[in-house]
Amino acid sequence: MALAVRKDWDTYFMDIAFMASTRSRCPRRHVGAVLVQGKKLLGTAYNGAPMGVPDCSEAGCMIVEEFAPAPSGEPGVMVKKERCIRTIHAEQNLLLFTDRIDREGSTVYVTDQPCWTCANMLANSGIVEIVFHRGYPKDHDKVSALMAERRIVFRTIPDYAPPQDTEVKDAD
Ligand SMILES: [Zn+2]
Ligand SMILES: [Zn+2]
Repeated sequence: MALAVRKDWDTYFMDIAFMASTRSRCPRRHVGAVLVQGKKLLGTAYNGAPMGVPDCSEAGCMIVEEFAPAPSGEPGVMVKKERCIRTIHAEQNLLLFTDRIDREGSTVYVTDQPCWTCANMLANSGIVEIVFHRGYPKDHDKVSALMAERRIVFRTIPDYAPPQDTEVKDAD
């Protein structure tokens, strides 16, 4: 076996976010997020029910239906989607479990592009950069606009591939 290529910092922290996401008990969506200051890891989080409350694996997902733009991006075409609202999003848990002072000037690595609510909260959290992997087309335009307005770096890692067995198959 060849010696593994040393990972760059971006890949290293995104891999940790994917590892954190495997702690999620929601069968529909596994999201992980980490807070990084310079090269120092300051917190990890994943989407989950509040402590002491049954999670999706015990109580089932709490599903709401909504209409979202078709994945094809065809204008005016909407598709019905189901979403689980039982969990606190990974980004929100990350904010709940880290200190404001640590967040000032820091970076969040998150497996999925933040939804509008999380993006709004992150924009007010002191962080200056968000790195994500999987897209979230539903909120993409307004979230990108918000980040531009707040001058928060909002980017993906070119050619990134998550570690093996850290992704839920056919989550949507
Ligand atoms: Zn769920
Ligand atoms: Zn969110």
